[in-house]
Amino acid sequence: MDEIETDYLVVGAGATGMAFVDALIAESDADVVMVDRRPAPGGHWLDAYPFVQLHQPSACYGVGSRVLGSDRIDESGPNAGFYERASATDITDYYDRVLQEHLVPSGQVRFFGSSDYVGGPDGHRLVSTVDGDETIVRVRRKLVDATYIESEIPSRHTPAFEIDAGVQVIPPNDLVDLAEAPTGYTILGAGKTSMDTCCWLLDQGVDPDRIRWVRPRDGWLQDRATMQPLDLVGSYMLVQAHWIRAFAETDNGRDFAHLLEESGVFVRLDRSVEPGTYRGATLSQLELDSLRRIENVVRLGKVKRASTDRITLEQGSIPSDPGQVLVDCTAAGTRPTVLRPIFEPDRVTPQFVTVGFACWSAATVGTVEASRDADAEKNRLCPPLTFMGGIADVLDTSGPGISGLARRSAEPDLDAWNKASRLNPSRGVADHLDDPRVLAAFDILGRHYGPAMSKLERLAARSA
Ligand SMILES: Cc1cc2nc3c(=O)[nH]c(=O)nc-3n(C[C@H](O)[C@H](O)[C@H](O)COP(=O)(O)OP(=O)(O)OC[C@H]3O[C@@H](n4cnc5c(N)ncnc54)[C@H](O)[C@@H]3O)c2cc1C
Repeated sequence: MDEIETDYLVVGAGATGMAFVDALIAESDADVVMVDRRPAPGGHWLDAYPFVQLHQPSACYGVGSRVLGSDRIDESGPNAGFYERASATDITDYYDRVLQEHLVPSGQVRFFGSSDYVGGPDGHRLVSTVDGDETIVRVRRKLVDATYIESEIPSRHTPAFEIDAGVQVIPPNDLVDLAEAPTGYTILGAGKTSMDTCCWLLDQGVDPDRIRWVRPRDGWLQDRATMQPLDLVGSYMLVQAHWIRAFAETDNGRDFAHLLEESGVFVRLDRSVEPGTYRGATLSQLELDSLRRIENVVRLGKVKRASTDRITLEQGSIPSDPGQVLVDCTAAGTRPTVLRPIFEPDRVTPQFVTVGFACWSAATVGTVEASRDADAEKNRLCPPLTFMGGIADVLDTSGPGISGLARRSAEPDLDAWNKASRLNPSRGVADHLDDPRVLAAFDILGRHYGPAMSKLERLAARSA
């Protein structure tokens, strides 16, 4: 059994672990050991369905020190006019290069792939899943749990409903391997994976009438046009401004969502249905138009049992047949988490500190860990937030995001880091002060920032 020593033992080399470590070593001379049970960095992207793409532009995803893609605006396809979005293979290739060409050559980072982290009273143990070898790690500073906001994805998840013999239930990954066309497709789930799957089938030429979409809930979605960085940063500044205004002016998630819908930030698939959820999914108008072609939408709750002749749901049942392919899109994706302090004496637990941006959050946590001493101060600068999934929770989710950004902006070094970080979607706004959308955003912020801060203070006083 080997024994090694390090300053930080980082468990998980997905987007969170990679952005954290990249920021930590940029700001300090810390020694780091990274461990992941997958053989390579990249986390869930290594097992993603082949037609997945980032929700957000590549321009602000990944690690701070290296560009993902080429910051190009797509000229055709459903993403036309918007910054490019990487595929899963682009992302895994990128993380491999970040590790092999930057982190390891820095001399500060050692990577243990295909190894399970096993805690325990005898210390920190890494167990190779290939040969069973064990390594004991003596940690001088902190254990970093970069698995806490781990994604739940279709290919690694067990459906929570019963499946009778003879029923074809597949993850979206297997759609590309079907030996013959089924009698029809039943898509199970209401989240972004189900939308990606429906869009892909329609793009392949499948008749919308051959697709049945079991959608237990409708969700609020974000219009991709409003999520654009760099030369289109005015769009994102307007989102921030409308978000702050809605936070200041409304007292519940429903009103918040309607205000954002009026502002053109939120959209919904079916305007006659009041959505109950918000998970941060982002779609373009072209994708929305495409998805609206599917008229066979089943709103009878979640699936309880799949049989060859019927599918039983919480509020009824629908017919099926043995030739039907059921595509399981019911994995949670980004899961709700129990919030905990990010910084503790012997542990860092990276969580979201910005609304919706995993990599920007993790890099922020790494930078704060490297640049401040006291955990209390670090926690003040980085209040965590989680996505519970319901629109009712959107104000609770937004509060820590807004207050954390305000606190970090008040610290000159963190403000300078943030303004320069490629992971920050509003980077470079100062170069676009002649953009009418940027000016409109500053106008809205000028009127609503103060009331939003006062509301945060009131909420903090109430919960104290
Ligand atoms: C399809 C999809 C698209 C998304 N698009 C975006 C987007 O555009 N923008 C955005 O900000 N977010 C997006 N997200 C949200 C997502 O949370 C982040 O993008 C991010 O990839 C999550 O990274 P992670 O490192 O937290 O988790 P993961 O990628 O799940 O990585 C966690 C890692 O920890 C390892 N691990 C767990 N336990 C152990 C153990 N005991 N020992 C060793 N290793 C362990 C796992 O093997 C895994 O590799 C998306 C999520 C999904 C599912």
